Amino acid sequence: MSRDDCHSPANMDPADYKYVGWLYQGRSEYIWESINLRIDRDFIDPDKILRSKRLFDGNYKAKRTCDCCGAVFAWGSVYRHTPSNTIVVVGHICARKFNLLNKAALIRVQVERAAEAARKRAKIRKAAEEWLSTHPDLVELLGDEAEPEHQILKSLKNNLWNWGNLTEPQAALAYKLKQQEERREEMKEQWAEEAKNAEDVPTGSGIEITGVILSVKTKDGRYGIEYKMLVKDDRGFKVWGTHPTSLWDGGSEGYRGRRVRFIANVQRSKDDSKFGFFKRPRKAEYIEEVKAFSAGTKATYLKMLAVSNI
Ligand SMILES: [Zn+2]
Repeated sequence: MSRDDCHSPANMDPADYKYVGWLYQGRSEYIWESINLRIDRDFIDPDKILRSKRLFDGNYKAKRTCDCCGAVFAWGSVYRHTPSNTIVVVGHICARKFNLLNKAALIRVQVERAAEAARKRAKIRKAAEEWLSTHPDLVELLGDEAEPEHQILKSLKNNLWNWGNLTEPQAALAYKLKQQEERREEMKEQWAEEAKNAEDVPTGSGIEITGVILSVKTKDGRYGIEYKMLVKDDRGFKVWGTHPTSLWDGGSEGYRGRRVRFIANVQRSKDDSKFGFFKRPRKAEYIEEVKAFSAGTKATYLKMLAVSNI
């Protein structure tokens, strides 16, 4: 079909066209997303154009193709043809060819760049989701909605969602931390339960303490280095005081988890009735672990020591 209208490539006079805005009518969801994010005032809704009474009765009105050359296009610009006061829609190729003011070209570059980035992000996201589906135990820790407190877990989560996967050593580390975290939770509950049931620290001189050494620490004292120990009494409260020389038998690590009995002068803490300080420990001895340790108790204590930083 031959054309003799003024918008045909043969007749077009670029001076007669005033730029109104740009439009996109492609189907890329990424580009649409990016366009929707921009909120550009020059963007023109294609459906609105089609409803316009001033729209030129040509290609665009009939089949959404270029009013100039008839080609199908995704990116185009809208112009007002000043002599006839009609609206025409021109694809970006013709707009460039006839040197019409064409913001669509610029927007197109920007939006496509943003869309490409979004596409990449979505791809990585999908990869991360797939990776997690093969490591279901880690979803709770590293999944999209996880809020890990541990610094390493935080960085592992970032790695996963920035790269789409974790290396095997990273995954192994995550599993290890997960186990630690679970153990810590378990222990926390147990500690809380024990603290709830603990008796208040008895106050006085000549108090007998029977319990487990939770830790031994050195402290610079008036007469040089002093050894202090934290003991958890069988009644549930804890006391802190001098680690008697009679209990010395090696490095401080060897003391943890051992059962002791001693007599001391004990004072209750002002802030915590389940915590006390003892002085002048005497008749201190390690005691048999068989009787007072109920089944599993020692194992529990040792586990507890492994995860606590007392
Ligand atoms: Zn065209």
